[in-house]
Amino acid sequence: MDNCIFCDIISNKAPSEKIYEDDHVTCIKDTNPASTHHYLILPNKHIRNAKEIKPEDVELYDRIVATVDIILEKLGLDAAATRTGFHWPPFNTVHHLHLHVISPISNMNLVKRLMFAPNTYWFVSVRMTTAFKLTYLFIHS
Ligand SMILES: [Zn+2]
Ligand SMILES: [Zn+2]
Repeated sequence: MDNCIFCDIISNKAPSEKIYEDDHVTCIKDTNPASTHHYLILPNKHIRNAKEIKPEDVELYDRIVATVDIILEKLGLDAAATRTGFHWPPFNTVHHLHLHVISPISNMNLVKRLMFAPNTYWFVSVRMTTAFKLTYLFIHS
């Protein structure tokens, strides 16, 4: 994919602070953090957004979600004080799927709380996205 900043970061063509990476996912620091800790979990493969997760990407999607636990454990963060979610189109900032991990919620200011408010039209939780994924798979099977 041309002109994608996240693809460039994954392939080390652009600088970033990588927290974690393996063959399937990469976790970087958000350059505009909404709280003390703010990370983005990216699939190494270019997927435009949460709405475009295809049946063949389901395993990759599950890996993205599972990486949250790896990051929380690695950094000693409290899951209960952490907010995670995806942008919902057309409210994407970068058009490469990424899961936000923000902690602690108590350190977020009002604007960020609104921007990353759970289960709004613009920001959806992992649970909501999983429900969408299952619906999508059902419709397309
Ligand atoms: Zn990309
Ligand atoms: Zn984002």
